[in-house]
Amino acid sequence: MSTAELENETETPRELNALDRCDICGAQAYVRVELSTGELLFCAHHANEKRAAIEPIAIAWHDETSKLESSK
Ligand SMILES: [Zn+2]
Repeated sequence: MSTAELENETETPRELNALDRCDICGAQAYVRVELSTGELLFCAHHANEKRAAIEPIAIAWHDETSKLESSK
């Protein structure tokens, strides 16, 4: 028995924080990608590397890499 399906999850965009980690290398994530199958998190480096391959199939591409530049 589960009540989970009663919860109505709305798609609220949330900001990435220090607890969000790149799915590839484990560094802090600055890009969140929504796919039909789920969500992927990437650091700035891997976002750049994977963007060409993943962006065409992504539902949404949230890029917060501007935070990197402003935190210097
Ligand atoms: Zn990475």
